[in-house]
Amino acid sequence: MIPFLDLKNINAQYRDELIAACTRVIDSGWYIGGSELESFEKNFAEYCGAKFAIGVANGLDALILTLRAWKELGKLKDGDEVIVPSNTYIASILAITANNLTPVLVEPDINSFNIDPQAIERAVTDKTKVILPVYLYGQLADMPRIMAIAKANDLLVLEDSAQSHGASINGIKAGNWGDASGFSFYPGKNLGALGDAGAVTTSDPELAMMIKALRNYGSHEKYKNLVPGVNSRLDEIQAAMLNVKLPYMDKEVEHRRQIAQLYLTGIKNPLIHLPLQNIDAEKYDQHVWHLFVVRSEKRDELQKYLSNHGIQTLIHYPIPPHQQQAYKEWNHLSYPISEQLHTEVLSLPISPILSLEDAQKIVSICNNFNV
Ligand SMILES: *Cc1c(COP(=O)(O)O)cnc(C)c1O
Repeated sequence: MIPFLDLKNINAQYRDELIAACTRVIDSGWYIGGSELESFEKNFAEYCGAKFAIGVANGLDALILTLRAWKELGKLKDGDEVIVPSNTYIASILAITANNLTPVLVEPDINSFNIDPQAIERAVTDKTKVILPVYLYGQLADMPRIMAIAKANDLLVLEDSAQSHGASINGIKAGNWGDASGFSFYPGKNLGALGDAGAVTTSDPELAMMIKALRNYGSHEKYKNLVPGVNSRLDEIQAAMLNVKLPYMDKEVEHRRQIAQLYLTGIKNPLIHLPLQNIDAEKYDQHVWHLFVVRSEKRDELQKYLSNHGIQTLIHYPIPPHQQQAYKEWNHLSYPISEQLHTEVLSLPISPILSLEDAQKIVSICNNFNV
């Protein structure tokens, strides 16, 4: 079986360094808010090109605490509208509703899977305060256009970069386009901890300060509380794991790109639609291929066929947010592009340790799919 993602062997590449880093933390006697977090925050901010990175407990909290900080700073209030793609992973939307803000679901472009800027323009109202683009599957949304729309309408932009560490357009990376950006270091992400972890990047010092307070009970100084905060910290052990893995991430992404190129040039089957790659992709639009997602009207048959041929695939995602039980009040709404995507998408194996031979094998098997 070719596994979808072999996390054990991905981390085994760095086993000695990870163990040394763990030992360093254990022997330091300092487990929360120490030098590992400080250096990771510095390294990650620098990597993204932002002034600040603030480590938090997970990617969902990164988004929740950013919106919450804007409320505390008086930039948002209950009921303000946040534009978000209708086909996103549910976490992006949970962050909005957790803050008593109103999600406005906007359809994606069917070929790039990312939010459609024209549809954003149509959705802007007097109550719109934030655009929350999600960089789904490893590719930035059309940020030059989205930032122009935000500027023209005086909107904040919160990037959901959980799937796109290092992705860029014109050399500007995820984490450095909007007013702030949420990252996840869930183990399966392109930069994965060995447990839960997340971060916010921003170049706004006031916002950075507020998020730092919020993640730590609302406290900016020991025993003084500015605002009623939460406990959402990135601990020393996970920061140490991330410090080990960050320097290797670009190399890992290069391997993902090689596999993606094999798929893009090799898979030739009218039943399988490949993801859109922009013409100048090499130069201007750097996809990091967190997931390689194809579409097929025969998706379920394709998944079964691949499984019968020893290839594990996953569906990201089988149910759109507006059809989830958690959001019953939206179940009657219709988002046709999202709904189509959720019946057609299939994620092929892609990872820093999937061999090119196995990828080539997957290409041949895909090309022989028939119904
Ligand atoms: C993974 C993910 C999140 C949430 O990250 P966690 O660390 O699991 O909380 C948010 N948004 C998107 C698009 C994600 O893929």
